[in-house]
Parts: sequence; C-alpha cells; structure tokens
Amino acid sequence: MAEDFTGFAVDKSNPFLVVVQCLYMVADEAAIKAAAGSKGASGLRPCLRCNAVYGQQTNLRGFPSISEDDYRRFVIQSDQDVKDTMTFLQQHADRPTRLKEKLSGWHLVPESFVMDATCKKFLQPSRVQYDAMHIYFSNGIVGQELGLIFSAAMDAGLNQEALGNFLALPWAAPQSKKIAAFQLRELAKLLKRGSDFKGDASQTLHMLPLMAFFSSEVLSGIEALSLQCASLEKLNLVCLQIQASKQNAKAANGLSDAQRSHFQAFKAAYASEAARPKHHYAFHLEAQVAASACMLDCFTCERKNKKFISIAENIVKLQDFEKSVLLRWLEADAEQCLRLTEDMPDHEVLSSPSALLPPDVLGEHVTISKCMYCPWGTISAGDFFLEGQDAAYKILACMLRDGSGEVLALQHDRLLSRGPEMSWSKWSNGNRAVLIPVEIVMHMAAVSFACADDGQIYLLR
Ligand SMILES: [Zn+2]
Repeated sequence: MAEDFTGFAVDKSNPFLVVVQCLYMVADEAAIKAAAGSKGASGLRPCLRCNAVYGQQTNLRGFPSISEDDYRRFVIQSDQDVKDTMTFLQQHADRPTRLKEKLSGWHLVPESFVMDATCKKFLQPSRVQYDAMHIYFSNGIVGQELGLIFSAAMDAGLNQEALGNFLALPWAAPQSKKIAAFQLRELAKLLKRGSDFKGDASQTLHMLPLMAFFSSEVLSGIEALSLQCASLEKLNLVCLQIQASKQNAKAANGLSDAQRSHFQAFKAAYASEAARPKHHYAFHLEAQVAASACMLDCFTCERKNKKFISIAENIVKLQDFEKSVLLRWLEADAEQCLRLTEDMPDHEVLSSPSALLPPDVLGEHVTISKCMYCPWGTISAGDFFLEGQDAAYKILACMLRDGSGEVLALQHDRLLSRGPEMSWSKWSNGNRAVLIPVEIVMHMAAVSFACADDGQIYLLR
C-alpha cells in the first residue's frame, strides 16, 4: 500500500477506489483487545489510551488508579509511545515477556493492527474509539448502578410491588421505540438483588429514565438511600448529555466534568472498590468527540448489522450476493429521506387536525400522515418533544407541503414542576395546536416516556 494512502479498492476485477480521509475503529472492549493487542479490562493497565492502572494500585507512583475521578491526572499515550512499547517488546521477544507485557498494557501480537506494517499506515491506536453504548448501556455502568440501587432499596425495606406498580402506570414511549405495557412490567424482573440489571442495551435505555424518576419521587424519601439516589440522578444527567451529543457534538462539552461529578457521587454511595474499568474509559469520550466531531457508538453498527441480516436472509441467489445486498441496503437507506408513511387512512389522520385547524391553514398541496421518516429519525403522532422549559409538544400529525416537512402539534406551555436539566417535567394539559417545521423539531429534546395523570402530563427525557 502506498505511503500516501487515500482509500481502498473494492471489486478486484473492476477496481473502484473508495476514498478515505479518516478511519476510526468503534468496537466493544473484546474486539478492541483482539484487534489491537491491548490487555484490556483484565490487565494491570486496562486502558489503551492512558496510564491508568487497575484497582487500588496506589503503590505505583505516577500511575493513577481507574477509580481516580480527577481525569486531568491521566497521561495520554501518543501513537509514538505505543510504537516505542511495541518496538521494546519486539526487541525482548526472545526472553520471557509476560511481565513486560503486564507493565506495558500491550500484548506482542504480530497480527494486531498496531504491529501490521500495512494496517498501521491508516489506523493508529489514537483512532480507536471507546464506545458509549458498551460503556453505559450494554453490560455497562447503567446496568451496574441500576442493580446496586435496587439492592440497596431492597435492603432498606422497599417493597418490590411498589416498583411494579410504578412501571404499570400508563407510560407511553415514542412510536419508534415502542415498548408494550407488559414488556415494561417485565423490566422489573430483570432487576435482581445482588446483581447488575440484566436487560440488553435498549431495555437499559428504557429503564434508566423510569428508575431515575422512581428514585427522585419514591426512593429519595428513604433516608438510607440519599447517596444512592444522588448518584443515579447524576448518572441520568450524564446519559442525557451523551444522547444530546449524538444530535449535536457540541453538547459533549463539559461531559468529563459531569462524569466526574457522577463518579464522585457513585464512590460516596458504593465505595471506590465498586469502580470498574468502564467508569475510567468513559472519561475519554469527550476528547474522542472533540477529535472526530461526532459521538460515535455501536448503536449504529448494531442497527446496520440487523439491517444487513434482514436483507441478506431474503436473497436466495448466491451469484453477486454481496452486490445484491449492498444495492438493496442503499435503496433502504435512500428511503430514509424526508417522506410520509403511506399506510395511514386519510380520514383517521384528518379527524383530529382538521378539527383543530381552519381548512385554509392546511391549504391544497398538503399531504398528511401519522408518521414521517426524516434523515435523523422517525416522528410519529403521539410522540412528545421539549423546547427547553418553554413548551412541550405532542405530535398530532405529520405533513408535507411543497417538499417541506411540518408537524401539527398540541402545545403544552405551562410547566408545573421539573427535575434537573428537565430530566423529568410536569405540564398542564395542552391548549392550542401549532404548526412546526421538522427542522425545528429535530433540535428539540426527545421524550422517552409520557404519562397523563388527572389533567396533567409527566414527561421523562
Ligand atoms: Zn485511560
């Protein structure tokens, strides 16, 4: 491969150069270990990005522990540092290297990309990204803390039925993340005393805002749980900031400080010994976003993988199999441009908005549906969005007018009470319908759960 690498060729018989400006590797920790040759979470030096050491190894002067919350103490390893380490290990390869590998945090693996002469020209250790999904939601920090606060609450005398009753309230999630009431109640069964919450990443994403609200409304009334409740509230704020930074990379500014504040609260509630390497890896996310200008995570990879499988299993001809899959995949992606769903009967859709809006507002060249696909996601009737503390909107219908997307929404403009950073909010009932361009809706905060209660509505972000 040439020194001035700019891409790679696909299709050997009729080569086509795919131009690449920048390569990043986003993966869970096991894949990073396997591809890079780093020691990972089980090693004395679990982090491939810095000099942190596992556990309470305070006797190693100059090497902060993974339970350190002052992220400014971590010394970042440059690509040159890693190169020097690998050269050193190679030079001593004829002698036992286990201790040297242990102290350096790297294995001598000739097949790894940091050793392979071709690979290391276009993928450097600094381009390996820790993944927010695996750090927080997939067997991550959130699952651990949900298990810990549940265990502490049971120890403090919580009746598990109280949590079951809370989850049985008529919570409504956005259509695109719909979860049935029985599935919601099932989430409580994934909490077991003495172990992590056992849900997958999307179940964990569902459970966090609900449990954070349950904690602030119910558990915070139990004095023995004040530290645990404070920690979960801060963890929820960190996760909201991560979600926001997927929409807008600038939202990641200050993430490390929010993580530090949470980590301090976590250690106060559960002791430093409960800290895991993922608490440490999390501190590298803000710098990653600053370098790549986006919050990369494995949710996208997993969605693509599911899409690939759903397309591939319907293709029976094996000739040009890859081309067929990629072509259909491209078509499916192209359909995600701004469009309305076509399967909604007009009379059903029109019954509510036409009652709220005079006909001349809608005009002639308007098509209406309950659901709209946009490049950044799906908006459906029944979904809620927050415009800071000023208003909450319930989507009534989606419409296309001359190629532009708009939503008809019921505006709730009286905020009655709220949690920090609008993590939860309570509004009086909506009183007027408004039309909003989708470009404005996409900058509003999405709501994870809504629950109507006696003329008022609770919204959880
Ligand atoms: Zn580190």
